[in-house]
Amino acid sequence: MALKALDIYKLLPKKNCKECGDPTCLTFAMKLAGGKADVELCPYLSDEAKSVLGATTRPPIRLVKIGVGERSFAVGEEFVFYRHEKTFYHPPGVLFRVKDTQPADEIIAVTKRVRDESFVRVGTELKFNGIAIENASGSVGKFADAVAAIEGTADLPLILISGNTDALRAALIHCGTYRPLLHAATKENVKEMCAIAKQHGCPLAIRAHGLDDLAQLAKECCAEGVQDLVMDLAPVSLGDFVTATTTIRQLAITRTAPELGYPVYLDTTLTGHEDAAIALGIVKYASVIVTSPLSSASAKAALTLCQNVYTDPQKPIQMNPGLYRIGSPGKDAPVLMTVNFSLTFFTLEGYLESTRVPCFMLIVDTEGLSVLTAVAAGKLSETLVRDAIRKFDVENEVSHRKLIIPGYASPLSGRIEEATGWKVLVGPRDAAEIGEYLHEEWK
Ligand code: SF4
Repeated sequence: MALKALDIYKLLPKKNCKECGDPTCLTFAMKLAGGKADVELCPYLSDEAKSVLGATTRPPIRLVKIGVGERSFAVGEEFVFYRHEKTFYHPPGVLFRVKDTQPADEIIAVTKRVRDESFVRVGTELKFNGIAIENASGSVGKFADAVAAIEGTADLPLILISGNTDALRAALIHCGTYRPLLHAATKENVKEMCAIAKQHGCPLAIRAHGLDDLAQLAKECCAEGVQDLVMDLAPVSLGDFVTATTTIRQLAITRTAPELGYPVYLDTTLTGHEDAAIALGIVKYASVIVTSPLSSASAKAALTLCQNVYTDPQKPIQMNPGLYRIGSPGKDAPVLMTVNFSLTFFTLEGYLESTRVPCFMLIVDTEGLSVLTAVAAGKLSETLVRDAIRKFDVENEVSHRKLIIPGYASPLSGRIEEATGWKVLVGPRDAAEIGEYLHEEWK
């Protein structure tokens, strides 16, 4: 069971020396209780206290990094069972699967797609994470050649899928320093796989059907000195996967079975229902998801779902305040003020673009609150609007002094006029009506 901050505090030396980076022992204890600090930061803790605290304060699911450099990704270090309890922190890595039996140009084309393809949603660039390459040929040389072809095309995180340790060793000559995930250690080959993972500093997938066998494998790997583990539950069906992954998350989060506190792996290509498996994996705790190269529609759906599930529900996605241009607005273009809640911004931006009326969007900082909430909470005020007009030099961008405000901000219209000296026009409440509004009102 996790210790509470006060219990942890009782075990600390209470010197308040700040060497851990916290101002007091109590704040350090609170961080430890939340899994946000490492016991090693306090140099005065006895080994006995460290072992008691270390077991209960480390994140219940280990953080595992796959790959190196810009495109590397980290999974795990989750603290809650339900997203609304706090948030989920590390979105799953989604990797496209290829086989070493495919022609090199096909493998390279998939690699280039993962390297280059992205799409922007609510201001964030979404991409796939890497390539999972399977030693389907069984040939040591073919596997190494396929890995070399990928490595020659892009610096992407890899999963090397092979039960043949010779093939893995040959492939690692090309990518051994880039932390590919090795898949997979089983009870038959665990010692040799651990030796390879240790030699190259790679994370290791362990594969077994049944939680007891997985826990046993995890213990054996740790005993061999390999702790960056990812668990492949070898599910026989999607229902089996959901049952197992849910049980594992519950046991890990409550620290009932710390030996199962590792990120979960799901190969959706083996399920027979790939799109459903991707969606289930994203919402039900899979951290490494392998898929075949997806159609454009499925790709967007998968990345969008990842973004939605792994967005902090307590922090609205925000835009930077500023003056944004729609088209090439001139001195007589309308200026529309709204809040920096990203959904408001992108909804309004979309409708404005479709009106084909060049204009300015003046985005003020309401800490990501929507118009209605910001007005009710007093976060949208006449001084905020006045300061934004000055800060973003709106007076020099246009020759008129008219400001269109959202319909839901109408109670502030008089005060904004007084504070800014601008004539305030109250726009529609629904962004969908902005086109009609501009065509009728903006002469
Ligand atoms: Fe307290 Fe240890 Fe931090 Fe010093 S280093 S303030 S003793 S927790």
